[in-house]
Amino acid sequence: MGFADTIWSDPVDYLRAVGPNDPVMFLSPAALQAQAQRFTRGFPGLVTYAVKSNPEEAVITNLAAAGLRGFDVASPDEIAMISRLVPDAALHYNNPVRARHEIIFAVGRDVASYSVDSLSELDKLFALVPTTRSNGEPVEVTARFKLPVAGAAYDFGAKFGATEAVATEILARVAERGYVPSLTFHPGTQCTDPMAWDAYIHAAGRIAQAAGVSIERLNVGGGFPSHRVQAQTPELEAIFALIARVTDEVFGDAAPALVCEPGRAMVADSFALLARIKALRDDAHVFLNDGVYGAFSELPLMGAMDRITAWSPEGAQRRGEIRGRTVFGPTCDSVDRLPGDTPLPGDIEEGDFLLIQGMGAYSVPTNTRFNGFGALAVQLVIELGD
Ligand SMILES: *Cc1c(COP(=O)(O)O)cnc(C)c1O
Repeated sequence: MGFADTIWSDPVDYLRAVGPNDPVMFLSPAALQAQAQRFTRGFPGLVTYAVKSNPEEAVITNLAAAGLRGFDVASPDEIAMISRLVPDAALHYNNPVRARHEIIFAVGRDVASYSVDSLSELDKLFALVPTTRSNGEPVEVTARFKLPVAGAAYDFGAKFGATEAVATEILARVAERGYVPSLTFHPGTQCTDPMAWDAYIHAAGRIAQAAGVSIERLNVGGGFPSHRVQAQTPELEAIFALIARVTDEVFGDAAPALVCEPGRAMVADSFALLARIKALRDDAHVFLNDGVYGAFSELPLMGAMDRITAWSPEGAQRRGEIRGRTVFGPTCDSVDRLPGDTPLPGDIEEGDFLLIQGMGAYSVPTNTRFNGFGALAVQLVIELGD
């Protein structure tokens, strides 16, 4: 993607002109930049972006254009990409487990912050990461801790996060070594319970106190919710206000600077997916050209979708009565099925298109070429439609 790419007015405009046989993901740069500004205006601290949720270059460059200068990265490839696209960005290497060669690479790219959740991985950082960057600024090491918290679509604490006791030990050692001492957590993706942040910020207060360390920064993770079927998702602004209030209550005058690292909530609603109906098998099962090995890879975890419209190849909207259908993806694997029943107009036909909103997170990078499918293109649009 570059400045010379065609910008279509909306996905239906593209559908009429091109009639694509392969799935297409549409990005609205305006929607993405507006969402970035919603975060930077509303969040009471530094907004960074979790690159893994959608590492398309057009996403990164539009976030940079909207003013973002911090990125949560997890691998040497992500570090290299961000350094190339946004050379002055702060790199936060928040994958708590790293091979030694990965740490050496990160030091070479002047990473500003490292998260860690174990004493063994902390020892690797101590051995390989200087306490200052090339510009003389101190390097941050942030202890990632976990709590058993409900409310998220799945539990992030299952893989990463130290107990409060281990986080206390890590924080004390980090401060003693002369790195910038900080704490971080991730409440779990699609977290619709703002009280998760309340519980975590209180725990951060206990850990800092037990370690006898005044933390400089508190990274409250990602996990901010985007649209979810049949669930009340709290407004981002209400979560931001709660984070500010609780941080103030817990830390008072010694309040740390706040950082957040949204992935999903930043990018989900700036993309829509256009998939095509390959077959309506005996008027029962719908077969699409995209499925769970493609842009729908997250659906088995996240559950059924809504916000779907159907369009004829000429671009006329199907308006038949909605009926739940079994929808399969294109591969020969029997798990390649969208969960539950998918609500679709009753008058859909073979060759029609489905336009699905809110598809920007954990879709483009996890798309595979399994069985020869998955030729997913990305196109720019002014508006995504609804
Ligand atoms: C994946 C991830 C995020 C982004 O999570 P979302 O739920 O997409 O907001 C943020 N921080 C870390 C450390 C992550 O691994």
